[in-house]
Amino acid sequence: MNNDHIKMLRCLECGGKLTPLPEGGPAMDRLSCEACAIAYPVLDSIPQMLAGREMRGSGHAAPLDMGKPHQQEYWEHELGPRQADHAAIRAFALPKLDLVEATLRALGDDPKKMSALEIGSGSGYLTAWAGPRFGSLTASDYSTNRLRINPHGEKVCCDGTRLPYSDDAFDCVICGNVLHHVSVPKDMVMEMRRVSRKHIIFLEPNRNNPLMYLYGLLQPAERGLLKMSLSWLRGLCARCGLAETLATTHGLVLPNKTPPPLVGTVTAMEPYLRPHFYLVVMATK
Ligand SMILES: [Zn+2]
Repeated sequence: MNNDHIKMLRCLECGGKLTPLPEGGPAMDRLSCEACAIAYPVLDSIPQMLAGREMRGSGHAAPLDMGKPHQQEYWEHELGPRQADHAAIRAFALPKLDLVEATLRALGDDPKKMSALEIGSGSGYLTAWAGPRFGSLTASDYSTNRLRINPHGEKVCCDGTRLPYSDDAFDCVICGNVLHHVSVPKDMVMEMRRVSRKHIIFLEPNRNNPLMYLYGLLQPAERGLLKMSLSWLRGLCARCGLAETLATTHGLVLPNKTPPPLVGTVTAMEPYLRPHFYLVVMATK
């Protein structure tokens, strides 16, 4: 992780700036708050910016609400063996990111000149394709295990509802397939809004697709998707004071499920078959 990123991080308790420690040592193993002296561990170059995890230094806040047991399991479970260059991952990610980029450009913004924060980056199948499109991108996730296998450079372990950054820290905050795993989605949207200077982007499953709905019914950790319709997400954005810039559905390829030999055929059907599997919603502050 680079110094510019360290300079952007803020103490969760007091908002203070952080100093890498040990000073002049061989490798940074913690970040210490300059104001309140709380120390945040750094594991494999990934700052552990979570309230309630083991902290060195002074006492700390109450542990986070991680949700029900099946949800906790999901957070620590590594995604399937598919890598970012898998045909289904490409077919899932690239057209959606094309839509996002076209919308940003239509609004007069050049992604190459923008800083972005990705929430729930996991093992990095979206990060790998989103990263090169922005001037800079920071990958974040609740799970250090997932981030460890994410090949991206700038990474931080944090909670999407309590981000270790000051207001307006990034030009753009993006989350892919995360909001439906959060206990109180509004809390995360408000937090994304707080740290974004302008754009907020969501890629989420579309419950109005019958197969996606069935998946949500059968998989306990995916139950949150049962409310994820385009109108619900648009309404949530409106309730959070966001101005919608794109609201559409897209795609029939499931990044971790569609068998490779079917990816081409399924992609070719996308313009003709509805309802799509995913929602793509963008908004500004
Ligand atoms: Zn502090």
